[in-house]
Amino acid sequence: MDRREFLGKAGATAAAVGAASAPAIATAAGKKIKWKMVTSWPRNFPGLGTGAAWLAKAITEMSDGRLTVKVYGGGELVPPLEVFDAVSRGTAEMGHSGAYYWKGKSPATQFFTAVPFGLTAIEMHSWLHFGGGMALWQEVYDRFNLVPFDAGNTGVQMGGWFNKEINSVADLKGLKMRIPGLGGEVLKRLGGTPVSLPGAELFTSLQSGAIDATEWVGPYNDLAFGLYKAAKHYYYPGWHEPGPVLECMVNKDAWNALPKDLQAIVSAATQAVSNRMLAEYTANNNQALNTLVTKHKVDVRRFPEDVLASLRQTSDEVVAEVAAADPLTQKVYDSYRNFRDNVIAWHDVSERAYYNARGAG
Ligand code: CA
Repeated sequence: MDRREFLGKAGATAAAVGAASAPAIATAAGKKIKWKMVTSWPRNFPGLGTGAAWLAKAITEMSDGRLTVKVYGGGELVPPLEVFDAVSRGTAEMGHSGAYYWKGKSPATQFFTAVPFGLTAIEMHSWLHFGGGMALWQEVYDRFNLVPFDAGNTGVQMGGWFNKEINSVADLKGLKMRIPGLGGEVLKRLGGTPVSLPGAELFTSLQSGAIDATEWVGPYNDLAFGLYKAAKHYYYPGWHEPGPVLECMVNKDAWNALPKDLQAIVSAATQAVSNRMLAEYTANNNQALNTLVTKHKVDVRRFPEDVLASLRQTSDEVVAEVAAADPLTQKVYDSYRNFRDNVIAWHDVSERAYYNARGAG
């Protein structure tokens, strides 16, 4: 082979390699995808907003920029409580929120966030991924052109901030309280007035007296909103939200347009943020509670036993009634309740027994 022939062959080979790889490169380049993520939280709000931001960053980095996600705080692109509609119709490809905000779309959505006296964070995660919950969630959201994922958990919340003492069930009568989801339905049954407000409006509403009480999340988030400056009493436990799941929803058309590897990245990133957010809350709640008690002299108190008993009994009634609204909601409830009944037996001899054995802090 002379030099000319060699160069000719090498050139042909290079051209062949180029011909083979050029379309692949062109395809990868052509498939750079940009998504918008609308959220129900102030941008970078501790825990919720930072969780959404971390999820967007993780997807962008894991895909090496092939799928970039830009986050919008509540109200920046759409109002906080219009995330569901915005993603459903494709105004944004992705949303980060809480499924129970959408009970008007289907009562079943509430079971995918939190049920009063229901599953804790680890139990929710177990039900969704090993108890049939996720398939039901997909079935509920499919009608709205959405694909759901669990994407965060706050752990057990606090009962809320009250400007009136709750010494008996009678004190719930006439109580105007911001409390979403099924917890709100329970309060209503006991004579109160549940109000739905986005987080950013809580402080002003509580301080002005427009509401008498509000629940939000727990010490980490409640301290950030300064709620201790607007109400006197901080009650526990968060009977209404024992392990609320944050959701990531994806527009179904946008989801179907993703190649399989990017779908796997989005899915894996939601699980990573679920894990991360619960750790963030657990680490920060204790410290924030300490600040509220020692620095701000907050009155932290447990709901009276008979109030909790009444809330529990009413919750069972309300949840069963809500479940009967339609066959799909009933199916979700049956699955949830069955899982709860079984896991209670296990956690009686594991989590509860261990906490009792370890003793008080
Ligand atoms: Ca809450």
